[in-house]
Amino acid sequence: MLELMENADLERLHFGLDRDTGLQAIVAIQSTSRGSAMGGCRFIKYSSEQDAITDAARLAKGMSYKSAIAGIPHGGGKAVIIMPDQPFDRRALLQAFGRFIDQLGGQYITAMDSGTTMADMDIINRETRWVTCTSQFGDPSPYTALGVFAGIKAAVNHQFGSDNLHDCRINLQGLGNVGYAVAEHLYKAGAKLCVTDLNPHLVEKAAKELDARCVNPDQIYLEPADIFCPCGLGSIINPSTLQKLDVKIIAGSANNQLATPDIGQTLQQSGILYAPDYVINAGGLIFVALKHDQVAQEQIDQQIQNIGATLSTLFQQSVSSGHSPAQLADQRAEHIIQESNLQVEV
Ligand code: NAD
Repeated sequence: MLELMENADLERLHFGLDRDTGLQAIVAIQSTSRGSAMGGCRFIKYSSEQDAITDAARLAKGMSYKSAIAGIPHGGGKAVIIMPDQPFDRRALLQAFGRFIDQLGGQYITAMDSGTTMADMDIINRETRWVTCTSQFGDPSPYTALGVFAGIKAAVNHQFGSDNLHDCRINLQGLGNVGYAVAEHLYKAGAKLCVTDLNPHLVEKAAKELDARCVNPDQIYLEPADIFCPCGLGSIINPSTLQKLDVKIIAGSANNQLATPDIGQTLQQSGILYAPDYVINAGGLIFVALKHDQVAQEQIDQQIQNIGATLSTLFQQSVSSGHSPAQLADQRAEHIIQESNLQVEV
């Protein structure tokens, strides 16, 4: 376990077990040098305990990088609750999880993620104050969408010399909570949308409300466009989709878009501008973190808009250094985290 922590660069790894409710939970904390670790709680099935630990560890590091680049005073962490095989009382289990988080004394602040809802966060909030995304806070998705929109404009400005989206052809994959809101912003800005989703109702809605052209999920990669905007799955930029994509920019909300890190460099060599996922999709995190810290809404909105400026800087540095924006984002995040570690040591 210590070797796993070393490899994942973790600061702490906590295990929570409650026999009465069936709770089996893991909290991985990558860094607290910039403040308490923040990150969502997954509540899904895992094929093994080891898989659950590995998932928490991997995701915690991503959260540290996201917080560092977004300039929020928090570190990165992630919780996973292993979905029990036996029937269970969800409320009782989540309350036990809340007590577990409370015992960590604020080292880690939990939030919504795959398999958890705002209502779940409300239950956890009965046991601990170290939780965000409760109904009192509201849904972070519109804020993630605002950041993505700011990021798309920055990418368009860099690639085409103006941030005017009028008649810009955008292929958008995934019309969920974030994707639909991004599509609304793009439509209002005059973009020509081509959309897809596994859910036909969402596609019909976009056709009706946003004048979007609709294609099957497999077709979206084959449509020539200015921008591909992935707002569905992870690992969506892979050797197979790369062969098909005929676009100048990839910028969307999905987490872990690059199937492997070297794809960032391949995109750079192909002249496709890639907005690193954890930079462009940080709006929701900025909102929940700063709202939890009781920062004024005006400042939160400003920090979300800054995502555009952060990306512009990365794009310019990419031109001068030859490194991909993804590589530069990683380097910048690592540098910020190292600096904070040094300050803590001093
Ligand atoms: P969601 O579940 O509400 O929406 C995802 C949508 O993508 C669904 O409608 C689904 O049908 C569609 N989809 C999935 N696979 C698809 C495929 N192969 N082809 C077409 N459509 C497909 O999720 P969300 O909250 O909108 O998040 C979207 C992405 O953004 C996820 O990767 C998520 O991790 C990431 N993200 C979300 C937030 C947030 O604030 N919600 C913050 C940061 C990152």
